Amino acid sequence: MDNVFSRERLLADKLQCKEFTGIDVIEFTNRLSEMAEIGVTAEGGISRFPYTEAEKNVKELFKMWLEAAGLKVREDSIGNIIARFEGQNPDLPVVMTGSHLDTVPNGGAFDGVLGCLSSFMAIESLIKQNKRPLRSIELVVFVDEEGSRFNHGLFGSRAMLGEVNENDLNKFADDQGISLVDAMNKQGYDPSDITSVYRDVSDIHAFIELHIEQGRILEYEKKDIGIVSGIVGLTRIVFTFYGNTDHAGNTPMNMRKDTVAAASEFIFGVEKLPSKFSDTAVATVGKINVFPNGTNVIAGKTELTVDVRDISENSLNDLVKDIKELGNKIANERSLKLDVKCGDVISPVLMSQEIQNVIRASAEKNHLSFRDMPSGAGHDAMNMGRYVPTGMIFVPSYEGKSHSPKEWTSLPDCINGVAILKDTLYDLANQKVLIFP
Ligand SMILES: [Zn+2]
Repeated sequence: MDNVFSRERLLADKLQCKEFTGIDVIEFTNRLSEMAEIGVTAEGGISRFPYTEAEKNVKELFKMWLEAAGLKVREDSIGNIIARFEGQNPDLPVVMTGSHLDTVPNGGAFDGVLGCLSSFMAIESLIKQNKRPLRSIELVVFVDEEGSRFNHGLFGSRAMLGEVNENDLNKFADDQGISLVDAMNKQGYDPSDITSVYRDVSDIHAFIELHIEQGRILEYEKKDIGIVSGIVGLTRIVFTFYGNTDHAGNTPMNMRKDTVAAASEFIFGVEKLPSKFSDTAVATVGKINVFPNGTNVIAGKTELTVDVRDISENSLNDLVKDIKELGNKIANERSLKLDVKCGDVISPVLMSQEIQNVIRASAEKNHLSFRDMPSGAGHDAMNMGRYVPTGMIFVPSYEGKSHSPKEWTSLPDCINGVAILKDTLYDLANQKVLIFP
């Protein structure tokens, strides 16, 4: 299998790694490789779904390392792992860092794992160097980030923030009909004690997550580090054009009500709209259903979905308005009926300016190149960012690949990430005050 994860492939770039005091490149490689062996699929990827043996095994391995490094480790009643490096003043609100160890079906070795491992290696390095900051640092492994099994992602962070109650837990079951509650009980967790998972957000000074970019901007621009400005807001709109279903041979061009032609004009127009509003706005038509979908039939109905995202809520709303107007204009000109169904707008979540500054300073200090960028994908940091000052560090993804066995971040890029996270955590944990946001 070409281009899937291997220890050898990672080590091939070892000599390109920058040297950072206290960060052991071989140790990092061994640990990442060991985790990548858990849940391997026949296609060369990794499947680790929440509350399964594979997920349990990777968590046990990770907890063993955390304990060996001297951290106080616990799991809450739904399976979030929390490991604590006690600061000089344990009563102060903590700096939290972490990510997830579950994967999508046949996913890669870096998504989530890199954030957890980098957090651990950053903390371990501080311990080894006797750099105990003012505030405690807590490493969190959020359970069920991807939503691969119960279609309810970002679950662990949502629960920690008090957004999940016992009733909510009973709503979910997997494809096999196993309920979320049964799956948890089987792994020895206690979902009935969900309230014990809740954290008082005033006890959290800041949250920071390192993650692979899952896009190709950093690689394309040859930047080492992405400083995430925010996680984009999004909405989905379903447009259905209704015309006439007629024979492709017997209907002259001027007598048609062709919904595929209307949809094409619309899609082409949508592509041009985002740049009118911002550099970061995107709109995508990725799904079309044509009815009746026959070679010799003019389609009387075409349904398509526009996925719209941006980091600015105002430009997102303006863009949505323009897309709807375009649909109506095309339907009118072609004498078609148009039905528009708007999904909920999920608001963007901005990252803390102050934390972005700390990450930037750390990148400069370590002579790494960087750029600001929004995250187009959701992360636990999105939930955390609605309650506490939050930051995200991105490292490059080879060819932008993610959620695939081909997901790849080179060893030098991984090590750069650990170094930046380490300095950022240390600086944040030494802060006496932090101004929100
Ligand atoms: Zn992830």
